[in-house]
Amino acid sequence: MSRTLSIRGLEAGIEGKRILEGLDLEIHSGEIHALMGPNGSGKSTLANVLSGNPVYTVTGGSASLDGEDLFALSATERALRGLFLAFQYPVEIPGVTVGRFLKRALELRSEYGAKTPGSPVPEGKGDLGGYVKSLRDTMAYMEMDQSFINRYLNQGFSGGEKKRMEVLQMLMLKPAFAIIDEVDSGLDIDALKVVAKGLNRLRDDTSRDGQGFGALLVTHYRRILDEVAPDFVHVMYKGRIVLSGGPELVGELEQRGYDWVADLPVPSVAEVAS
Ligand code: ADP
Ligand code: MG
Repeated sequence: MSRTLSIRGLEAGIEGKRILEGLDLEIHSGEIHALMGPNGSGKSTLANVLSGNPVYTVTGGSASLDGEDLFALSATERALRGLFLAFQYPVEIPGVTVGRFLKRALELRSEYGAKTPGSPVPEGKGDLGGYVKSLRDTMAYMEMDQSFINRYLNQGFSGGEKKRMEVLQMLMLKPAFAIIDEVDSGLDIDALKVVAKGLNRLRDDTSRDGQGFGALLVTHYRRILDEVAPDFVHVMYKGRIVLSGGPELVGELEQRGYDWVADLPVPSVAEVAS
């Protein structure tokens, strides 16, 4: 069953300042959508609004997950339905170890899944040995030292370690949709390759009942898109998607920058939906 994250005419802002100005976007599970655009165009705002950060206010439009109104759900309820936000700036959570954090998140997903027919239930429920093995294997895959299991989440992690941690969480939780905000910024080449390897593993995972991994991959750089080839590329400018296309857009943006997108007419909802 394919799943759908649908955004129509979304308007949102913060402290009375409007940032999203009528944004349309539709993502199906199994598709990787790259989201590019100049600084300040509202990419992180979109990520925060979709995942339920209460600091932002939605003032118009709609967003739905498989037809269900996203904005009627709490951030927790969105996460339980399979939406994941990989933060541009992951927060440090002193007192909560990586091992306990992921275990609890998986338990909550299992409890929710058990109550909800058709919901993906992560394997290993109640199986501590299985959980630890899966965590250790996944950490090894992400080339992370096993000692991270007992460290407080993100506390004192380097920039690259925080980004690997975001991908580790996705590999363990297997979200249906991930909004991935600049996971590649500030990474050295080796860390970038590991992060890309993790994202490709999510994409290639066939153990999800035919439900592919859908992602909105926010980035400024071609490098990660050379590794994790997007199915679609969108350009955001002043709170709207002004241009959508295939991977060929990445090269064009690299050559021409963003100035020219400012002059493009904003596509109508009808065009976007067709
Ligand atoms: P992007 O991720 O595309 O660089 P952002 O969504 O971070 O853009 O920001 C869009 C605009 O919203 C910017 O002008 C930014 O200054 C403003 N903005 C974002 N967060 C806040 C905030 N907490 N308070 C005030 N303005 C904000
Ligand atoms: Mg941002």
